[in-house]
Amino acid sequence: MKNIIFIAPPSSGKGTQSNLLVKKYNYKHISIGNMLKQEASKKSKLGLEIAKIMESGTFVPDEIVNDLMQKELKKIDKPFILDGYPRNLTQGKLLEKEFTNLNISSYIAIYLNISEEEALKRVAGRINCPKCNRSYNVFTKSLKPLKEGVCDDCLTSLTTRFDDTEETFKVRYKNYLKNTIPLLNFYKRKGNLFIIDNPTEPDLTFKEIENVIK
Ligand code: AMP
Repeated sequence: MKNIIFIAPPSSGKGTQSNLLVKKYNYKHISIGNMLKQEASKKSKLGLEIAKIMESGTFVPDEIVNDLMQKELKKIDKPFILDGYPRNLTQGKLLEKEFTNLNISSYIAIYLNISEEEALKRVAGRINCPKCNRSYNVFTKSLKPLKEGVCDDCLTSLTTRFDDTEETFKVRYKNYLKNTIPLLNFYKRKGNLFIIDNPTEPDLTFKEIENVIK
């Protein structure tokens, strides 16, 4: 099974696809966003700083996220998904070095190409499990929880992400266009890029992903 890097705008379905991949193929899901949220919830000095940055929609400084990524990759003992890393070229280049150091050669960068309008629509309907991080969407039939407001997997009450406001989304999307889009050429040149256009139906998107990871 190939390792996966998701390159995509906010609210494009990276988390949903990661959840499906973990369930079916036992991938290790590395979500820098979830790790940062966990740190933020501790309300430590660093946590408060991270929460403020995330609430504004900007990127957390590279030194903080690079450190998290490096620690997680050192623990890897099975195929993994990087969800939300890298988000800029500096991170992408560092990741290549880490892969070389750790002898990781097989991976694919999957680009979920959705429009800003579609992503914004999804933000408005997204609800998350604060315990296991599974995400749902009240506007998509296949992504609704079985019982309203409750996580199917761990029965925790679902909440809205504190950075899922329209205002924050706009900043996140702008940062994505400026910093993350250049990564597409980076992976294209390496011959590692797979593009999924208009990934609106989660099951179909999953099938497309399944076809390229085996
Ligand atoms: P996500 O859950 O992946 O949407 O990430 C939520 C927020 O965490 C982003 O809006 C950023 O503020 C921060 N974040 C996540 N991954 C990174 C990264 N690779 N570099 C910088 N900031 C990040």
